[in-house]
Amino acid sequence: MRRPRRAAALLAALAAAAAACAQAAPAFPPSVPQGALVIGHVEPGSQVRYAGRELRVAPDGSVAFGVGRDEKGPVAVEVRRGSARERVAIDVTPRDWPVERVAGVPPATVEPPPEVAERIRREQARVSAARQRDDAREEFLQTFIWPVRGRISGRFGNQRVYVVDGADVPKAPHSGMDIAAPKGTPVKAPAGGIVTFADADLYLTGGTVLIDHGHGVSSNFLHLSRIDVKVGDRVRQGEVIGAVGMTGRASGPHLHWGLNWFDVRLDPLLLDGIAPARAAAAQPGRSGAAKAGANGS
Ligand SMILES: [Zn+2]
Repeated sequence: MRRPRRAAALLAALAAAAAACAQAAPAFPPSVPQGALVIGHVEPGSQVRYAGRELRVAPDGSVAFGVGRDEKGPVAVEVRRGSARERVAIDVTPRDWPVERVAGVPPATVEPPPEVAERIRREQARVSAARQRDDAREEFLQTFIWPVRGRISGRFGNQRVYVVDGADVPKAPHSGMDIAAPKGTPVKAPAGGIVTFADADLYLTGGTVLIDHGHGVSSNFLHLSRIDVKVGDRVRQGEVIGAVGMTGRASGPHLHWGLNWFDVRLDPLLLDGIAPARAAAAQPGRSGAAKAGANGS
C-alpha cells in the first residue's frame, strides 16, 4: 500500500507547487497617486529593480518603493527570477498642489545669511546620509498610526510661500505633513523602527529625529521641543520618541511628519491607517480652530 500513498503525496506536492506558481505573479497596484509609498509582492527569491535601484525582497516577497511628488509615470518595476523576466507598469495619478502662504516664521530662517547657509547644507547632508540605510527589518508593513492627534495644518507637496515683511518668498514644496498640537504633546513612533538620527538643534528643523522602518522607508519628526531617544535605539510602534515644539523654522507648535523612501519624499497622509477615509472617524473636527501660520518646514 506504499505506492498509492506515495503517489498521493506526489500529487499533493504537485498541486501545492501549482498553487505556489499561481500566487507567484508579481502583485502591484495598477495605479498610485504622486507621493505614494508603494508596497508590492513578488515570489520570494525574485530580484526586483525600480528606478535604477535593486529592491530588497522580504522573505514573504514584500517589496517597497516610493513614487515622488513630481513623478509623471507610468513607472516600471522589473521582476526577475531565474531566466524569467517581467516588467510591471504602474500608472501615476497626478495631484493638485495648492499654494500655501505661511506668515510669522523668523525671517532669518526664510532668507538665511550666507554663514548660516553653509550650516544648513552640512545639516541636510547628515540627514540625507541617515536616509540611505537599507535594512532588512519590515516595520514599514505595519499599519501606521498617527504620531500625534490634531488638525492638519500643512499638507505634503503644497507650494510654500513665506511672507516676510509683507513680501512673498517662494520656497521648496512642503516635504511632509504638519499636525497642529500643543507644545509638549508626546510624539509616538507611527511604526516601529530604529533611530538613525537625533539632534536637538538643526537650524531649519529644530529638534529632529529620524526613524528607519526598513527597506529604505523612514520617518522624520521636526520642530521637537524634547527628544527622548538616541541614535541606535529600537522603538516599537506607539513608543514616545519626543514632544511637539516649534523649534527651527516654525510659527507655532506643530509636528512636521515626513516620510521617505531613501531621498524620495512621500506623503504620510496616503499611508494605510493614516489615509483620510479611515482616519476621518478618529479625527474629531476642529473646524474654526484653523489658525493661519501654525506651520513651518
Ligand atoms: Zn512642515
